[in-house]
Amino acid sequence: MVFQSLASDSPKKYSYELDVCHLYGNLLNTYGDNGNVLILKYVGEKLGAKMNFEIVSLEDNFDESKYDLVFFGGGQDYEQFIVSKDIVRNKEAITRYIDSGGVLLAVCGGFQLLGQYYIEANGRRIEGIGAMNHYTLNQENNRFIGDIEIYNDEFDETYYGFENHQGRTFLAPDEKPLGKIKYGQGNNNEDGTEGVHYKNVFGTYFHGPILSRNARLAYRLITIALENKYGKTLLLPKFEEILADEDSEAVSDKKRKVE
Ligand code: GLN
Repeated sequence: MVFQSLASDSPKKYSYELDVCHLYGNLLNTYGDNGNVLILKYVGEKLGAKMNFEIVSLEDNFDESKYDLVFFGGGQDYEQFIVSKDIVRNKEAITRYIDSGGVLLAVCGGFQLLGQYYIEANGRRIEGIGAMNHYTLNQENNRFIGDIEIYNDEFDETYYGFENHQGRTFLAPDEKPLGKIKYGQGNNNEDGTEGVHYKNVFGTYFHGPILSRNARLAYRLITIALENKYGKTLLLPKFEEILADEDSEAVSDKKRKVE
C-alpha cells in the first residue's frame, strides 16, 4: 500500500524537489508524530523545495533509491510488534539507505527498531533491523514521561520536547547522542544522553512533534537532504532569513516580552 499522504498543490514554482518516505506512517504515529510531516513540508517549501510524501507500510517495498528523506515515527508496543515482523523484508534496503548517508528522522519506537532489539513492557523481545548498534531494555512498572530539554554541543543547538516511553536505550560506541540532557530522562535515565546522531540519522524520544518545537532541526534535515541531492555548493537561505520567527528561543523571548 503506497499513497500520497500530503499533496504539494501550490501553484508556486519550486527550484528543488524532495521525496519523503513516511515509514509505517499509518501505524506509528503516537503523540502527534505525524505533525513532523507538516513541518517538513513547511520548511522544505520555505527552502524552495516541492515536498512529496509517501507512506510505505505493511507489505510495501522500501526502495532506497526513491527517497531523499525518511521519517519513522513511534508507537505503542502492539503496533511496534506488527511493524517489527513486516520490516524484516526491508531491512537491507533501509540499512543501505542509512549507510549511504540518507537523511532519516526516527522517533521513539522508530528509533528503537533501527537498533538491535527492543524489550517490550511485558518482557517480550522484538528484533530491530540492526542497521544501528543501540539496543533497548524494558523497565518494570515505570515509564519516562515529561518535558525534556537537551543540548547538542556539535551544532550548539538546544532542543525541547516531551517524552513518553518505557524503553531504556543504550547507545553503541559508534553512535553519538542527539544531545545531553539538561532536564528530563532521555535514553535511559542513567548516562545523560538523549537520542542518537549516526551518519545522517537523527533518532530521539521527543514527541510533540519534535520538529514543530525545534525548527532548527527541521532546517538541518532538509538542508542535508537538499545537499545530498543537488550538491554541497547549493546556496540556500540561512535559517535566520526564513525561519527566525519559528525558533523556540525567539518564540519564548517574544512571549516573555508580551507577558
Ligand atoms: N513502545 C515504545 C516504548 O514504550 C515506544 C513508545 C513510543 O513510541 N512512544 O518505549
